[in-house]
Amino acid sequence: TRIVHCLKAEWRMIALIFAIALGAALGFTLRAFDIHENPRNVMYVGFIGEVFLNMLKVVILPLIVSSLITGLAQMESQTSGKIGLRAVAYYMSTTILAVILGIALVSAIQPGKIGKGGKPLTEDLEVPDAVEPATTADTFLDLIRNMFPPNIVQACTAQYRTVLKPPKENVTETFDLIAVMNSSTMPNGILNTTLFVEQLQLSGAFPMNATVPPEKTVPTNEELSSWIIGGKFVEGMNILGIVIFAIVFGIVISKSGEEAKPLANFFLALNVVMMKVVGLIMWFAPVGICFVIAGQIMKVDDFGEMISQLGMYFLTVCAGLFIHGLIVLPLIFFIFTRRNPFTYLSGAGRAIATAFATSSSTATLPITMECLEKNNGVDPRISRFVLPIGATINMDGTALYEAVAAIFVAQIMDIPLGFGKILAVSITATAAAIGAAGVPQAGLVTLVMVLDAVGLSAEYVGTILAVDWLLDRIRTAVNVLGDVIGTGIVDISCRSYLADLDACAAEAAGGA
Ligand code: ASP
Repeated sequence: TRIVHCLKAEWRMIALIFAIALGAALGFTLRAFDIHENPRNVMYVGFIGEVFLNMLKVVILPLIVSSLITGLAQMESQTSGKIGLRAVAYYMSTTILAVILGIALVSAIQPGKIGKGGKPLTEDLEVPDAVEPATTADTFLDLIRNMFPPNIVQACTAQYRTVLKPPKENVTETFDLIAVMNSSTMPNGILNTTLFVEQLQLSGAFPMNATVPPEKTVPTNEELSSWIIGGKFVEGMNILGIVIFAIVFGIVISKSGEEAKPLANFFLALNVVMMKVVGLIMWFAPVGICFVIAGQIMKVDDFGEMISQLGMYFLTVCAGLFIHGLIVLPLIFFIFTRRNPFTYLSGAGRAIATAFATSSSTATLPITMECLEKNNGVDPRISRFVLPIGATINMDGTALYEAVAAIFVAQIMDIPLGFGKILAVSITATAAAIGAAGVPQAGLVTLVMVLDAVGLSAEYVGTILAVDWLLDRIRTAVNVLGDVIGTGIVDISCRSYLADLDACAAEAAGGA
């Protein structure tokens, strides 16, 4: 049956690759007939893909929670600690390796310097309006805040993000500003602008003889609320918070003995059912993926960017991703397991293809689990514990991309980065990859933190946007590949240990 299953898995993977090619062909054909110019058409073509992505997304929450809780509840806490430690050690070290590789490549190739001397590169690049980025400290705090959500139900739909738009003029103390604003607000909650300006003048924030007409200087209520420094819950699941909560929950169940058994059984049943649902969704995957790709190709503004100077940046990131994904990680796998990494990876081919198609490691998680357990025979106790954590914190592709992008921006801006700044890029790129959610283009958001760490302008995020849709797919594939290899290493290295445990348990059961 195993051979039959492998054959089936291979056919399914061929079907997925075929779907990606067909989707690309469909997208380009529709573009050729200018069908993409009407956004409504793009929406229609992407519709089936949208439904498919929703199918994947809807299983994420019950799957992550039930997998982690089941994985941990079934294990002795000592065992889970051992497995968790190995997984985290692998995740951290490979992420750092990816960052180092990215820095080496971007420093050697220098994509940001290409074209300089002749026409300055920056002239070609469109710089969007400046946005005030949150500082590195803000982003670090957000990462910690998201680990400890105040409300677990809210964490399923919202995450915390610092919003920072300091007032222009002389108002530097935001808290003063808020105080003034509150005292100028009428009982119905509407801001009394005349009073507000007067109070600002009294507090010294606006010059008394300000020549600027008040209508111009007085911000709207909306602007004022966005000036407030502090956190805000933005849309998007706080997966990190949910993962931490589930880990604690699972460990406590494992330590609570008989009393907690019904809970453990409940999550086990939920987990089994969710995996069956995933199996059903997989039948729809080739059709869904075909339309996801076709819709994306219709949405791209300008393919010309890919062959312009930005192309060199694109190629640098790609080279790094390929070296890391196809040489470094397989080598690590071989060193630790003495097995052929590519045979192992071929079992997870569908997961990697889905990561490419969806640009989301979290959305791919159900498929990654299915592939590893069914094709590679990974122990579910390992995969259901190690994979959800990996999909949340282990993003080698994203880390590599963040490092390359930050140094690329420094190169375009002609700012030399010394050792200290390169170190800052490495540390923040690692943190940014851990903090990025496994959703499309999350890395682009956390890139702002890396740029800010070395004093680079976040404006340039706009310049790399043109090629990000494709880079995102490739780095997501590498992110998932990293999770697959890591889970394989942990699985193989813990096999004899788990077998011993099973033998002990069987003996104890037999004795009883
Ligand atoms: N899309 C990536 C992922 O899901 C994250 C990123 O934007 O780098 O893994």
